[in-house]
Amino acid sequence: MIRVLVNGALGRVGGEVCKKVWAEPDLDLVDVVDIKDGQVALGEGVVFGVNTDLVKAIENVRPDVVVDFTRPNVVMDNLRKMLPLGVHAVVGTTGFSDADLQEVDELARANNTAVLIAPNFALGAVVMMKLACEAAKYFPHVEIIEKHHDNKLDAPSGTAIITAQKIAEVREAMRQGHPDERETMAGARGADYEGMRIHSVRLPGYVASQEVIFGGQGETLHISTEPVSRECYMPGVALGCRKILGRTGLVYGLDKLL
Ligand code: NAP
Repeated sequence: MIRVLVNGALGRVGGEVCKKVWAEPDLDLVDVVDIKDGQVALGEGVVFGVNTDLVKAIENVRPDVVVDFTRPNVVMDNLRKMLPLGVHAVVGTTGFSDADLQEVDELARANNTAVLIAPNFALGAVVMMKLACEAAKYFPHVEIIEKHHDNKLDAPSGTAIITAQKIAEVREAMRQGHPDERETMAGARGADYEGMRIHSVRLPGYVASQEVIFGGQGETLHISTEPVSRECYMPGVALGCRKILGRTGLVYGLDKLL
């Protein structure tokens, strides 16, 4: 049994992770943590009281893996607290800078443990990125539109950033659009990653969808992913808990473990 502690257990995704870990025969939900008091109900009368002290909880229950779905502004602090305790981490929280990723890798190696950071745990999103990289070899003109619920704190999404980074590995940086184009309203053309434009839509009703659009002569190609519920992240999170054990350092992206 793999002993799993869920941090951010009262959140939208954290709550789903608790249910998934509880339901899997080889995963053992040993504790749940959040910044605030509360309870996590898992059905059939099973209720976990939420702990608010991550370090104490880890010291008490000694998990193998901590799953973190909290907030971009606290996740580095969480990792700085948990990694010296020797636990592995599976992190869905987004908003990491390159410097953060380097620090996580160094911290994990120094403590002989491993961290999976996956900007998107949905299998559809992982396959979308793979297909987008294939398409970009033939269609170098690319724009990305990501659409999320309006409670999301960071923009562009971690998935949009990693998609652009992966595409940039297979195509030359290039300027897109008319050489003389200008914005008459700031931001109209979206964020710029090596010439690729990224547009972030924030509206109630969306979960987390993304479309990568390729333009060619007389045609466009659209590759998109549309999760219908947060359950889509759960197989990836469970796989992360199983496959991160025995590794050292940072693993960035679920595709590395598939
Ligand atoms: P959410 O509903 O706001 O849940 C976050 C939870 O963490 C909240 O209960 C929050 O409490 C709590 N929290 C805040 N600070 C904490 C701390 N220091 N320690 C422990 N818990 C703390 O957010 P969500 O929609 O579940 O998303 C969480 C993160 O996952 C976001 O960064 C989101 O972008 C990301 N995400 C990633 C994926 C993926 O596949 N990688 C998928 C979906 C979402 P308060 O509400 O009181 O702050």
